[in-house]
Amino acid sequence: MSGLVYTSSASGKAAGETKPAPVIRLERIHKIYRMGDIEVHALRSVSLEISRGEFVAIMGPSGSGKSTMMNIIGCLDRPTKGQYFLEGVDVSTVDKAGLADIRNKHVGFVFQSFNLVPRTSALENVELPLIYAGVGSAERLRRARAALGEVGLSDRERNMPNQLSGGQQQRVALARALVNNPSLILADEPTGALDTRTSVEVMGIFQRLNRERNLTVVVVTHEPDIAQYADRIIQFRDGRIHRDTPVQSRKDAKEVLQQQPVEEDEDDL
Ligand code: ADP
Ligand code: MG
Repeated sequence: MSGLVYTSSASGKAAGETKPAPVIRLERIHKIYRMGDIEVHALRSVSLEISRGEFVAIMGPSGSGKSTMMNIIGCLDRPTKGQYFLEGVDVSTVDKAGLADIRNKHVGFVFQSFNLVPRTSALENVELPLIYAGVGSAERLRRARAALGEVGLSDRERNMPNQLSGGQQQRVALARALVNNPSLILADEPTGALDTRTSVEVMGIFQRLNRERNLTVVVVTHEPDIAQYADRIIQFRDGRIHRDTPVQSRKDAKEVLQQQPVEEDEDDL
């Protein structure tokens, strides 16, 4: 990670204030996609701070800029204009290789479609980010097993993705997102392809990681019910933040699951 400048006083707070730098800070971020002579202004001056240990849900209609913002936060893409500080580091000007490096160190991604590698075991899928990070095989195995354990799938490590239920596949994806010990988990509609109960289970894993590890979690969802598991909801509209509100009575996934009857054929708890 050469060439990065750590900006310890970038927040411009008054001297003596000890508030830690936010994990994420966007300053008037714009994103314009250009396709031929058509321009799409996907983000229009988005400013946002997310602190360590927050659990944020991003909502808003289709096309409002949610995924674009997640891609920028996750260093998969760069803003057209504006500044982005991740862990206090200005990443808006970092080149592609630098972004990949930052991503590997800090960010775990979860997607709606799981994105597991087919014909590759659960364990090997979880090991992949460690291979990219150059971790040796013994350490890789140990950490991949631990991550699968965290999501309750120790007994499925040899299964291929097509031998797992949707919920289990998403848990493997979650283990893969966790295995590099990121400080930030970004999930773009992680429950979009799951049934209600399985969705609550996945939100339960996010809530546990958020509480126990103080992991910062940002989840895009179009389901108001799912957003209630977060502690803050940010609503997008037309490439802008429309509302940013705390969740008044946050739902607890563990409690919700305990109140529901377990279905007969549920084998993946
Ligand atoms: P959301 O996730 O809220 O549905 P997106 O961030 O995917 O919204 O998209 C915001 C806008 O940017 C939309 O108008 C979409 O068509 C456009 N857009 C998204 N990605 C691209 C891209 N790679 N190239 C061109 N336009 C894009
Ligand atoms: Mg999207």
